[in-house]
Amino acid sequence: MAITLNSSIQYLKSIGPKRAELFSTIGIKTVRDLLYYFPSRYLDRTTILDSSKVFKFVASGYNNEITIVGKVADTEEIRYGKKNIFKVTFKDDKGFFECVWFSGIKFFRNRFKEDDYYAISAKPVITRYGHLQFAHPDFDKLDSEESLNFRNTGKIIPFYKIPQNPKKQNLSDLSLRRVISSAVEQCINEIEETLPKEIIENNNLLNIKSTVKNKHFPESSGLLERANYRLKFEEFFYIESLIALKKLNNKKIQNGIKYKLNIPLVKDFLNSLKFELTNAQLKTLHEIRLDMESATPMNRLVQGDVGSGKTIVALIALLIAVSNGKQTAFMAPTEILAIQHFYNLQTMLKGFPVEVELLIGGQRKKEKDATYEKMSNGAPAIYVGTHALIEEKANFSNLGLVIIDEQHRFGVAQRSDLITKSFTPDVLVMTATPIPRTLTMTLYGDLDVSIIDEMPKDRIPIKTYLRSDKKLDKIYKFIIDSVDKGLQAFIVYPLVEDSDKLDLKAAETYYNELNNSVFSNYNVGLIHGKMKWNEKKEVMQKFSDKEFDILISTTVIEVGIDIPNANIIVINDAHRFGLSQLHQLRGRIGRGSEQGHCILVTSEELSKKQFDATFSFDFLSDAQIQKNKTIIRLNALVNYTSGFKLAEIDMKLRGPGDIFGLKQSGLPDFKYANLVEDQDILLKAKQVAFETIENDPQLSSDKNEVIKNNIKQFYKNNFHYSNIA
Ligand code: ADP
Ligand code: MG
Repeated sequence: MAITLNSSIQYLKSIGPKRAELFSTIGIKTVRDLLYYFPSRYLDRTTILDSSKVFKFVASGYNNEITIVGKVADTEEIRYGKKNIFKVTFKDDKGFFECVWFSGIKFFRNRFKEDDYYAISAKPVITRYGHLQFAHPDFDKLDSEESLNFRNTGKIIPFYKIPQNPKKQNLSDLSLRRVISSAVEQCINEIEETLPKEIIENNNLLNIKSTVKNKHFPESSGLLERANYRLKFEEFFYIESLIALKKLNNKKIQNGIKYKLNIPLVKDFLNSLKFELTNAQLKTLHEIRLDMESATPMNRLVQGDVGSGKTIVALIALLIAVSNGKQTAFMAPTEILAIQHFYNLQTMLKGFPVEVELLIGGQRKKEKDATYEKMSNGAPAIYVGTHALIEEKANFSNLGLVIIDEQHRFGVAQRSDLITKSFTPDVLVMTATPIPRTLTMTLYGDLDVSIIDEMPKDRIPIKTYLRSDKKLDKIYKFIIDSVDKGLQAFIVYPLVEDSDKLDLKAAETYYNELNNSVFSNYNVGLIHGKMKWNEKKEVMQKFSDKEFDILISTTVIEVGIDIPNANIIVINDAHRFGLSQLHQLRGRIGRGSEQGHCILVTSEELSKKQFDATFSFDFLSDAQIQKNKTIIRLNALVNYTSGFKLAEIDMKLRGPGDIFGLKQSGLPDFKYANLVEDQDILLKAKQVAFETIENDPQLSSDKNEVIKNNIKQFYKNNFHYSNIA
C-alpha cells in the first residue's frame, strides 16, 4: 500500500502499532501530523564554543547563558556539609567542564552514562579550584553521530516539545528525529503546495516541501529562516484572505439604507452644544456621513483614546438615523455605562423630538416588555442598553443603525449577533483601546477605520502620582481641598481575589469608615456591581448632579463614565490592576477644564521604586521584565498619558494575545507567527491577500483553487472572519 499524508504513522518504517499509540498521545496520528510536528528549538553548531574558549570568556567577565557540548567522563556524589551534591564531569576536545546539581539528585543519578554526549546550556562560572562549572543547567542528550560530527558538519539539530508522560515511555528527541527523518524520506513528495505558485514566486518564498524539510533538518540557518518566513507568511495570508473576503462581500451589498442628511434637527443639536467639535471628530463624522449616504451598509470602527469624545460622534449618527425614521441601538458593555449614556442622551436631547429608551438585564419584566413592544412596533427611537439588546426577545422591526461602545469588551461573535438580527443596518463600533495598527488590521480588518487622534482643546494633561498607602491622610486632605473648590473625586478599590463579595466588602467597609471620619462633613456616595440597576442609576445621577462630592466605588466605573467636574481619582492597591484598566480608570478624570490628578496608591516599598522601562526594553532580559512587571506598569502610568504608548508597553509586558484585555476578543491563535515581532511579514501578507481577493473575489480561477481548498480544509475555525459559503 502506498503511504499518503493521511495514512496512519504505523505504516511508516520503524513505527509499529504500539509506537503509533504512544505518538497519538501527543496528537500525532497521521503522517501529515508527524511532518507538521515542528521542532520547538534548535542547536546551531555555529553558536557552540569549546571549553577553553568558554573559560576565557567567563574569566574576562562574560556573564550570560552559553551552550556547550561534551561527553560524560565521570559522575560522582559529593558530601557537602549536610547535603549531597551531584556532579558530572564532561570532556570535549579542548578540556573538561562540570555540571552540578544541589537537589533532585535521585533523578539525575542514573541519567548520565559515561561516553554519552550532551548539549549543556546555562550561565557558567569558574570555581575556586579553577573549574568551568554549570549549576542546574538545561541539557539535551545527543546521539553520538550527531555529536561527533558536531563541529565539522554544518548541522543544526532540532529539539521537540515532548510532554512528560510520553517522555517517560522513551519518546525522546532522538527517536522523534529518527522517525521524522524516515517520514521525510518516504513522504516528502506527497506534500502538496498550499499557496499558489505565482505568490510563491513573486514573494520569493520557499516551497512547502523545502519548508517542511528545513524546519526539521535545516541545511543552513539561512534556509531555516526562510522556512520560518514562509510558514508565518502563509498563516497571515490565510487570515487576511478571510478578512478580505468578508470586507469585499460587505461592500457588495447594495441594499443598505441610504440616509438623507441635511437635517435641521442635527444642526439645532450642534448649535445647542457648549463646545465645538474637534477636527478629528469632524473628519470622523464626515467619513460616517459618506457611509450613511451610500447604499453599502456602514461597517466602521471609530478608535479614539479615552476622553477623545466618541460619544458625541455616536450621538450625531444616531440622530441622523432616527430623523430618517429608523430604530437605532446603542450598546454598552456594562449596566452603569448604559445607564449613563441613557441619562446623558436624555439630558442633551431635552427639548428635541427624539425618544430615548433604556434596556438592561436588571430592569423589571414589565419595563422590559414595554420596550420590547415598542421595538417590534417599529417605533423610531434610540434604544440604549447592554447585551439585553441582542436577547431573543429584542425584536427590532426597523433597525437602521447599530452602535457598539467599547467594542473590545464584547467578543467578535456578539458583534455579528446584533448585525444578523436585522437585515442590513449600518454598524459603527467604537473603542478606546489604542491597539497597534497591525492588531487592528487583524481584529477589525473587515471594518473601515476612523481615528480620533486629537483631544478637545481645553484639556490639560492629567498628573499621575505613585504614593505609599502610609500617605493616605495627606491624600484625603488633598481631596478635601479640591472638593472645597466645588470639584469632585473618585476613590476606587480593586476587585480582591476575583470575588465579588470581598470586592464589595472593601468598598463598603471603606465607605462606612471614611464617611464617618475624614469625610463626615462631605457627601459621599457608594457604587458597586451588586446594586440594583435603579440604585446604580440614582447614585450616578446624584454624582453627576453634584449631590455627592466623593464617589467610592469598585471597578464598575472603569469604562466610559463621564463626569467632567470630577478631577481627582484615587486608585487603591494600584499594583493589582492591569495597565489598560489603570489607563481606563484614569480616563474617568481630566474630562473638563480643571487639572486632573490621578493618585496610584500602593505599598510603601513599591511606591519608592522607579523604573522607566521604555528607555531600556531592548536591553532587559525576559526574566528582568517579568521580575519588574508591576513597577514597570506603575511607572509607565506616571510617565505617559498616551494610550498608544501604554498599549505598546503593555504589549511588551504581556504579549499580543493578552494586550489590553483583548484575550476573548476573537484574535486568532497563531501557530507560527507573532503579531508583535512579525509585523513586516503581516503587512506584506495582507497586501498580497487583498490583491488576490480583489482580483478574484470568488476564488474561481484555477490558480487560486488551492486557496479555496485550504480555507475550507484548514481555516474553518476562523470562518467568523468571512462570509464565504
Ligand atoms: P470617550 O471618547 O472616552 O467616550 P466622551 O465621548 O465620553 O469620551 O467625551 C469626554 C468628555 O469630553 C465629555 O464630557 C464630552 O462632553 C466632552 N467633549 C466631547 N467632545 C468635545 C469637544 N470637541 N470639546 C470639548 N469637550 C468635548
Ligand atoms: Mg466613551
